Amino acid sequence: MSIEIWLSSPHMGGTEIKYVNQAFDTNWIAPLGPNVNGFETDLEKFLNQEVKVAALSSGTAALHLALIECNVGHGDEVICQSLTFSASANPIVYQGATPVFVDSEKDTWNMCPVALREAVVDRISRNKKPKAIVAVNLYGMPAKMDEILAIAAEFDIPLIEDAAESLGSTYKGRSCGTFGHFGILSFNGNKIITTSGGGALVCHSKEDKDRAVFLSTQARDKAPHYQHSEIGYNYRMSNVSAGIGRGQMEVLNSRVEGRRKMHDFYAEITRNMDGVELFCEPNTDFFSNHWLSVITIDEAKASKNREDLRLAFLEDKIESRPIWKPMHMQPVFKDAPYYGGDFAEKLFENSLCLPSGSNLTDADRARIEKVMVNVFSNKKLSDSIVP
Ligand SMILES: *Cc1c(COP(=O)(O)O)cnc(C)c1O
Repeated sequence: MSIEIWLSSPHMGGTEIKYVNQAFDTNWIAPLGPNVNGFETDLEKFLNQEVKVAALSSGTAALHLALIECNVGHGDEVICQSLTFSASANPIVYQGATPVFVDSEKDTWNMCPVALREAVVDRISRNKKPKAIVAVNLYGMPAKMDEILAIAAEFDIPLIEDAAESLGSTYKGRSCGTFGHFGILSFNGNKIITTSGGGALVCHSKEDKDRAVFLSTQARDKAPHYQHSEIGYNYRMSNVSAGIGRGQMEVLNSRVEGRRKMHDFYAEITRNMDGVELFCEPNTDFFSNHWLSVITIDEAKASKNREDLRLAFLEDKIESRPIWKPMHMQPVFKDAPYYGGDFAEKLFENSLCLPSGSNLTDADRARIEKVMVNVFSNKKLSDSIVP
């Protein structure tokens, strides 16, 4: 069946093509050039902190380089939020290290500080002090950064902030992506802005950025011939992709507004739906870009579960999706250590990501609303015969 309303699709602003044409006109069709530098400067300004940004080929590549810069190597352990996309964890394995997964907490759905502390203390008692912590801002929601940073500082472990989904979000007024020793951003096609595919590493010093650029361009030593003292990677962003990124930066604020408007729409229509709860910011310290709007369904109250809604959407050619399946439940990570309870597991069973694009129309919203009202007012027959 062909989908007509997507979960999250690219939303061009119009000026992207101007920068792409400039790349063609000047023949900068390479993983370097004025758009790459311009895009990095745009991001640095947007993040509004003393940061240095390296534009890369993907968010996954950015995370890989962050781990390398944190000296994660063979046999090491890295703590990682369990409830996330696999790209948060895979680069740990690229480095020959083992992920140690940690549960989420109920306010932000992100790394639980209590379980994090338990994990750090227990790994240290086994003589396996974690080399880094990867915390995620899921669906745009900032994690409890004060608590997480305090634990990272107490045990002197670098924090890598996976902000792939949270560009435009803030915590206590500060931009997501700038909290950790490193932050990572993604510009994949489904993210809040896109370069068709791409990512960035957010650094706090010129040295760290220079090292990321060096590693991402095959680790070439200074010499007229090709000379290498280290293993490098081909991870730099293309000047053509960066052109799309520069155009997208001009509309980023309005994309955040658009996604937040979708969230308001869901708040409005779910208000009177029994057993349906929208994932919201816990208080005003947290400002989410609401990259995706997500609901949790209490089947006992709603008489419907997330599959009932997902399939009803699909019937009307509307895409929706269960939330990320926690990494500690994934076959590929079945042997990895895990700390916490069953919070992430329960969320996974009962939550659904809803169409959230900034380019959805009033007609799209009307279609979405109709399906949801239909599913949640149409209770099971057994309910109506109960006296
Ligand atoms: C998208 C995403 C990534 C990976 O980014 P790519 O650019 O697709 O490599 C990493 N972490 C999270 C949480 C993501 O959503």
